Amino acid sequence: TAPLSEVDPEIAAVLEQELGRQRDYLEMIASENFVPRAVLESAGSVLTNKYAEGYPGRRYYGGCEFVDIAEQLAIDRAKSLFGAEYANVQPHSGATANAAVLSAIATPGDTILGLELAHGGHLTHGMKLNFSGKLYNAVSYGVDPESFLVDMNVVRDKAIEHKPQVIIAGWSAYPRHLDFAAFREIADEVGAKLWVDMAHFAGLVAAGVHPSPVPFADVVSSTVHKTIGGPRSGFIVSRDMELAKKLNSNVFPGQQGGPLMHVIAAKATAFKLAATPEFRDRQERTIRGAQILADRLIAEDSKSGGVDVLTGGTDVHLVLADLRNSPLDGQQAEDVLHEVGITVNRNAVPFDPRPPMVTSGLRIGTPALATRGFGDAEFTEVADIIAAALKPEADVQSLRARVRKLTDEFPLYPGLGPSGQE
Ligand code: PLP
Repeated sequence: TAPLSEVDPEIAAVLEQELGRQRDYLEMIASENFVPRAVLESAGSVLTNKYAEGYPGRRYYGGCEFVDIAEQLAIDRAKSLFGAEYANVQPHSGATANAAVLSAIATPGDTILGLELAHGGHLTHGMKLNFSGKLYNAVSYGVDPESFLVDMNVVRDKAIEHKPQVIIAGWSAYPRHLDFAAFREIADEVGAKLWVDMAHFAGLVAAGVHPSPVPFADVVSSTVHKTIGGPRSGFIVSRDMELAKKLNSNVFPGQQGGPLMHVIAAKATAFKLAATPEFRDRQERTIRGAQILADRLIAEDSKSGGVDVLTGGTDVHLVLADLRNSPLDGQQAEDVLHEVGITVNRNAVPFDPRPPMVTSGLRIGTPALATRGFGDAEFTEVADIIAAALKPEADVQSLRARVRKLTDEFPLYPGLGPSGQE
C-alpha cells in the first residue's frame, strides 16, 4: 500500500516531470491528445489485475462478471457511435488491430494495396519491415506529384494492375478527406475487400465532422488515443456480421492473449464522452484550429521567407508544412519550435529530396490543444507564433513567453497529479 513516491521515487519523478512537460509545452503532435481525468482513473485502476481471455459471457477465466459489464459497454458504445453492427474493443493498439484485420481478411502471400508510407501511409499498411510487408505482397498508390492529393484514377489503375485481395484506405499524414465511395467501387470492381484505417480521423467521424467510412468499408480499424482522446489502444468496427467471428478470433487468440481490461473500461468512457455535444464542439475547434494555422502559414509562404502548406490547406486536424523551398529543414524546424515551447514532429513530404532523418516537412496537429480548451483566438495566436518561429532570425525568447502565456491561461489537469489523483 506504499505510494509510488516511496516504492520507486525514480519513476515517480518521471511521472511528475512528464506532467510538467505536458503542462508547459503546446502539444501539437497530430497523433496525441490529453485524456480526461475519468479515463486516467480507469486506466490506472484495479482492472489491470484481471485476466479475461475470451469475450463477454464466454471467458476462459472465472471472476469476469464485472469486467464483462465494462467490455459490453465499450462494445455497445463503439457500435452506436460509429453506426456499426459489430465492434471489437480488445486490440491493445492500432497496430494489433491492423494485424488482426489483415489476418482476418487476407491470407499470407495475398496482395494488399495501400497508401505509400512516404506519402502519408502507415507502417501496418505494407511497410517492408512490418508484419504487413513481410507476410503480404504489399503494393502501394501514391499522391499526385502536383496536387499532393490521392487520385482515384491512379488507385483504380493500380488495383486493376495488381488485383489485390485487400485495398487499404487510411493515413497517418494526409490533410484531406478520402473518397470512401470511390474506394468501395474500385474494391468491388477488382473483387477486393476494403479496409479503412481511421486511426487518425476517428474522433472527427464520431463527431460527424468528417465523412464516415463505416457504410463503405468491409472493416474499419482505429486507435482510441488520437482525435478521440481516449486511452492508448485500438478497436475494430464493421457492418458485416459475416466477418464478425473471423475478426474476433483473429484478435483473440489470433494476435493477443488477455485483454487489458483497465484500458477497455477507459475506452468505454471515452466512447461515452465522444457522443456528447462538448465532444463535437471540440472536434469543430480542432478542424478550425488547423485551418487557421494553414491560412496563416500560406499568407507568409516560402516566397516571403516562410513555409508552404501541402495541398494548400486542410480538412482535418493536421497541417503538413512543406519546407522544400524553405531554408529550414524538418529537423531544424522541429528544433526551433521545441525551443519556442511547441512540440511537433518532422515528417517527410511526398517526393522529399532530404533524407528521412532530416525531412522537408512538419506535421502539426490541433487535437490536444482543442482538448486543452483552445478556440479560434488561441489558435490564431499559436499560428502567429509558429509562422514567426519558422522565419529566419526568429526571436525565440519572446515567442517562448507568448507560449507560456497560453499554457498559463489554459492549465492542464489543474489540481491533479500525474495519475489523475487530487
Ligand atoms: N494506423 C494509423 C493510420 C496510424 O497513424 C497509427 C499510429 O500512428 C496506427 C495505425 C498504429 O497505432 P499504434 O501506435 O497504437 O499501434
